[in-house]
Amino acid sequence: MMKCDDCPRGCEVKATFCGKDFEKIRVGKAMKFFSEEPIICPENKGCGAVFFSFCSLKCVYCQNFVLSKEGFGRDLSEDELVALFKRIDASDVENIDLVTPTHYTSKILSALKKANVKKSVIWNSSGYEKVENIEKMKDLVDIFLFDVKYYDNGLALKYSKVNSYFEVCKKAIKKAREIVKDNISGGIMKSGIILRHLILPGHIDDSKRIFDEIKKEFGTDIYISVMSQFTPIDCCLCDENLKRKLKRIEYKSVCLYIKSLGFKNGFFQEMSSATDKYLPSFDGDIFF
Ligand code: SF4
Repeated sequence: MMKCDDCPRGCEVKATFCGKDFEKIRVGKAMKFFSEEPIICPENKGCGAVFFSFCSLKCVYCQNFVLSKEGFGRDLSEDELVALFKRIDASDVENIDLVTPTHYTSKILSALKKANVKKSVIWNSSGYEKVENIEKMKDLVDIFLFDVKYYDNGLALKYSKVNSYFEVCKKAIKKAREIVKDNISGGIMKSGIILRHLILPGHIDDSKRIFDEIKKEFGTDIYISVMSQFTPIDCCLCDENLKRKLKRIEYKSVCLYIKSLGFKNGFFQEMSSATDKYLPSFDGDIFF
């Protein structure tokens, strides 16, 4: 039986966890997007974001569940994806932001090679990646924006049905550090790594542990982005912690802890970001 190489789950082709169709690439939306970190998303330009449908993690609390779980979007051929990358490259956005790309890794890398784009390419993923795939991204991907989700394996299993998440993610970050170096020009990152983390209500100890480990493995110069925007959705109602937003006191506790660790580069999100108003509606539209 053939197995999929796009993510560490290694599903058999006839029983995919993510839900993708191997012959197609489904896109929920492609648009100018202004809600990424300012260092990759200048407010006068924005990012050229491509939101891919389906997901290799499908976290129970995912705000983009229409995309990640329901797979809403429009099917593109590889040639159409190449053409889309070229149109974004020719537009006035800062970069090409590939959002949740992991389950289409082989097709996206092939399309990037053919498109030969000049703008920086962002791999905006959960960090649940195969090291061999990160290696293949050399000279194709410039910025790794990894959303480091959990330290605790129990949480990863409960919320994303995944084993050994942190160990897998840590190896991916290490490999990414080998292939890209931080390069900031005029306040904008042209290449490098940003480690994002969304704090989950009731799990601030796990958040603190993540930053302990990041400091231990990667030092305090690495760019971090701490997010408070968790917003409960209906699928979370089975879990007491995920029925509510993050409390201000929880966010403050994590932020103070991170600051005490001495991280030098990064971003802390406003508490007022805990709303879905910044999310695009996913309707398969392609605005390039
Ligand atoms: S990308 Fe999808 S099909 Fe492939 S291994 Fe991962 S979850 Fe399974």
